[in-house]
Amino acid sequence: MPDAVLSAFSEDRDLLVRAAETTALVEDARLRHRCSPTATAALGRALTGALLLGSLLKDRQSILLQWRGGGPLGPVVAEGRPGLTVRGYVARPQEDLPARRGKLDVGGGVGSTGLLVVVKDLGVREPYTSSVPLQSGEMGEDLAYYLLTSEQVPSAVGLGVHVAPDYTVSAAGGILVQALPGADDGRVERIVENFAAMGAVSDRLRRGEGPAGLVEAALRGVPHRVDSIGEPRFFCPCGPERLDAALSALTPEEQEEQYASEGEIRARCGFCATEWRRPREGGWEKAGDDARAR
Ligand code: ZN
Repeated sequence: MPDAVLSAFSEDRDLLVRAAETTALVEDARLRHRCSPTATAALGRALTGALLLGSLLKDRQSILLQWRGGGPLGPVVAEGRPGLTVRGYVARPQEDLPARRGKLDVGGGVGSTGLLVVVKDLGVREPYTSSVPLQSGEMGEDLAYYLLTSEQVPSAVGLGVHVAPDYTVSAAGGILVQALPGADDGRVERIVENFAAMGAVSDRLRRGEGPAGLVEAALRGVPHRVDSIGEPRFFCPCGPERLDAALSALTPEEQEEQYASEGEIRARCGFCATEWRRPREGGWEKAGDDARAR
């Protein structure tokens, strides 16, 4: 199944759904950041969550999710934008944990003693920051809790990543269901029951059900309509303009020192792991494709 994002509404327009398959996108992220299996699962869930929430935003808005749970992976960060692009990283991507009950221990890797910090840039004034205590570090639950307590939107979120024995991503994706104003309690209860019966998101995607299968499972018994809204991708807007802005933090003397010792100035983007170099003559260029090779 190619990566895709679907939008769905209940016929009564009281439930809004986004569902995504992100297998190729998460594999791209794994290669960029050279992630361990546990880091791949954590980053994949974060990216998929940011994708689902970012797909609800308008042009030039963005949402940044930061799990700061105190676990061995360090902070897990993902940013989503309308247009179905995301970027993100894990602070310590090489850390790994033993499996728990046959599953990658995402909760243990992320930790559950800290906060989920959400920065929403709505394109007006200052970005809006809020945070909630982590519920489990399992990420889907944490996002649902954030949406309910900070945005007052009753929501169910399922996120899943399956990593094959050779460390490649064999399935990744997620689903978000939000109750819109006017949704009755029976509707919400129905969705909660459906989520409980749905099983692991990654199992359904591994069976080839795609995001449409997630929507069917989540909205079982609720008449609805589904539309495709496009293909998501990992995209980072870093480039010469932003790098020059960062470079201006160095004094001319400091820049000269780097040219003298290295022959060029090097910079690495934390979000996408792209290595950039700036020779003395000429502008910024990517420093080979080595960062993407594994
Ligand atoms: Zn970048």
